[in-house]
Amino acid sequence: MTQVDDPAQVKRFPPVAEISAETLYEKCLAMARNLWWTWHHDVVNLFRDLDPIRWRQLDHNPIALLAEFTPERLEMRAGELVLYSRINHAYRRLKEYMDPDRRTWGTTNAGVLGAKPVAYFSAEFGIHESVPIYSGGLGVLSGDHVKSASGLGIPLVAMGLFYDQGYFRQHLDIDGYQHEEYMNVRVEDLPMEPALGPDGNPITVEIDTRNGRLLAKVWLMRVGRVDLYLLDCDVEGNRPEDRQLTSRLYGGDTRTRIRQELVLGVGGVKALKALGITPGVYHLNEGHSAFAPLEAIRDSMETDGLSFDESLREVARHTTFTTHTPVPAGHDRFDAGLIEEHLGPLRDKLGISHEQLMALGRVEPQNEGESFCMTVLALKLSRRANAVSSLHGAISRRMWAHLWPWRVEEEIPIGHITNGVHLPSWMAYQMQQLYDRNFPAGWIYRMGEPEVWQEIHKVDPGELWETHYSLKNLLLSFVRRRISRQCRRRGESDDVVEAARNVLDPHVLTIGFARRFATYKRAALVFSDIDRIARLVNNPDRPMQFIFAGKAHPADEPGKEFIRKVANLRHDPRFAGRVVFVEDYDINVARHMVQGVDVWLNNPRRPLEASGTSGEKVVLNGGLNLSVLDGWWAEAYDGSNGFAIGKGRSHAQEHVTDERDGLSLLDVLEFQVIPLYYDRDVDGLPRQWIQRMMSSISSLAWRFSSHRMVMDYVKSAYVPAAGGLSCDMHVR
Ligand SMILES: *Cc1c(COP(=O)(O)O)cnc(C)c1O
Repeated sequence: MTQVDDPAQVKRFPPVAEISAETLYEKCLAMARNLWWTWHHDVVNLFRDLDPIRWRQLDHNPIALLAEFTPERLEMRAGELVLYSRINHAYRRLKEYMDPDRRTWGTTNAGVLGAKPVAYFSAEFGIHESVPIYSGGLGVLSGDHVKSASGLGIPLVAMGLFYDQGYFRQHLDIDGYQHEEYMNVRVEDLPMEPALGPDGNPITVEIDTRNGRLLAKVWLMRVGRVDLYLLDCDVEGNRPEDRQLTSRLYGGDTRTRIRQELVLGVGGVKALKALGITPGVYHLNEGHSAFAPLEAIRDSMETDGLSFDESLREVARHTTFTTHTPVPAGHDRFDAGLIEEHLGPLRDKLGISHEQLMALGRVEPQNEGESFCMTVLALKLSRRANAVSSLHGAISRRMWAHLWPWRVEEEIPIGHITNGVHLPSWMAYQMQQLYDRNFPAGWIYRMGEPEVWQEIHKVDPGELWETHYSLKNLLLSFVRRRISRQCRRRGESDDVVEAARNVLDPHVLTIGFARRFATYKRAALVFSDIDRIARLVNNPDRPMQFIFAGKAHPADEPGKEFIRKVANLRHDPRFAGRVVFVEDYDINVARHMVQGVDVWLNNPRRPLEASGTSGEKVVLNGGLNLSVLDGWWAEAYDGSNGFAIGKGRSHAQEHVTDERDGLSLLDVLEFQVIPLYYDRDVDGLPRQWIQRMMSSISSLAWRFSSHRMVMDYVKSAYVPAAGGLSCDMHVR
């Protein structure tokens, strides 16, 4: 352990429970420095009300906003707006939330983790748009996991990397081609502080490789009750190229990749040790962090005097692994040279040969032609493993069956826990108010329970429809603002900018599609029969419109081509003003979209969407899913809570599957979705549609929440792993 070069670039901030903020300014700052605020509407609204224009310009970052205020000016502003009691109330709630004696679900159900918490490893965390250390679904899932662990009171610490340039910001040029821009994040504007060891000093970890030592300092970010530690290689003492190692998320080549994963896994375990934390469970969220158990084995050999094999068994009993990728090509693989360069010194300490180490990352241990796969390593070093939906569980068992050649497929020890989303983060304020008015008091603490959501059937259909309609209007004004800004930035004519201010119509059936533009997600599928979709879009009585958003990975040219194709539809008079592409998809764009659309479209090539979560965010806001029966939707759709594309089958030949699904999608739109939406009663209400919204909310909201997900992890993985039970995770 060594000192960091700049010990307290940021002033250390004690946990809120220990703070006694006196002034309004201190109270606001205390709230801004715990990401708890991000899922509490009244606190978000409080920050926004301080200066609505700057709030938007600063990417909803309260620390950056407060930096523009003096304590005196804040007092004045609070006086003008009568904010005193709101600030005091919110601050009191945060203090109560952070009270270590508060009883939670975890107090009763996760007691054994109290002394030895779960260490949750992930390469990205998507918590809020103002903290850009995520790229997409995996990160948002990790963020939601951490938020629910906090809400449920599960003893858990999270380990990740700090990317000071984050993921890229996306701009399209006049031809619709994607350009990437990397921004430097200002550390002072983030709710981070140097993490301190038990001796009160900031910590730096050292990781040896065959060609020199890597250093990483450790930051602490507070997400409610959960501490999130982020490793950062921008440290004096590192070579210049290594100082940039953790600058960008998923940037760079395989060598960058293995070095980042070394820092996350090996560095993460070293950081825990330096912090004085002894985890009872290691949770590897995806294979990126699979080096972590190797360092834990080394530590256990040294501390407990065990052999390599004994230590491996011991560590594996406490390790649980979640796989997210249903295609072999999606798993990180490294060649023997890279492995030896980066794991060589650790391997020496483990007392194993190069071949023995390589064997841990190979399906066929002796096959020298096989490279080192992080997923294989994770499966071999964990006693429990799970996929992220029921269908993905079956696919994963088949994909990895040859690791257990003596078992039949059904007995491959990979279970599943279906992904869920953090309801408070994704639920619109107006929907929460509607639930508050109609659901039993305290429902928000019981949102993982099915009974709570049955109440939706008692809500007045008109009230639900009007709430949805007002959210749709909010979405449309957001989209218009963004589209006209995009046009202005590209230097387009005043006429074009003006037209952009008037795109879309709130009375028209509105379909949203937003996600990474990976080709398997088939963003352009709905345009595969362009004349037919043009007729549907322009039907004078029952028109339709589309909002698209999403980034392609910088190296994914086919993905960028999809973006170009969709974005350029604005030049086709049949789609102008009816099909729009919102640039720079992030949590903010996602939140607006999932809260305001009528229908959420999801048409991946089955079974390549392991779970998918964006459709789950739509549910609680009253949107309906229109999706291929893949991932979570394969187990969620019951015939009356949304719409299904296809019959849950894929053809061996991709182009046949694509043609079939494209046809089914247009049929479902034309014969089910559109008629149901425009079938109005005398009051102008689409009764059947509203019925479907209610079925969707009551049958899905609780089930696909991250509270339910984390409760499943506690019961079937964390608690057994903490006790060192060696039974395999239940295969459902
Ligand atoms: C929810 C979310 C995702 C995941 O979307 P999928 O449709 O599940 O791929 C990706 N990016 C952002 C910003 C999200 O909020």
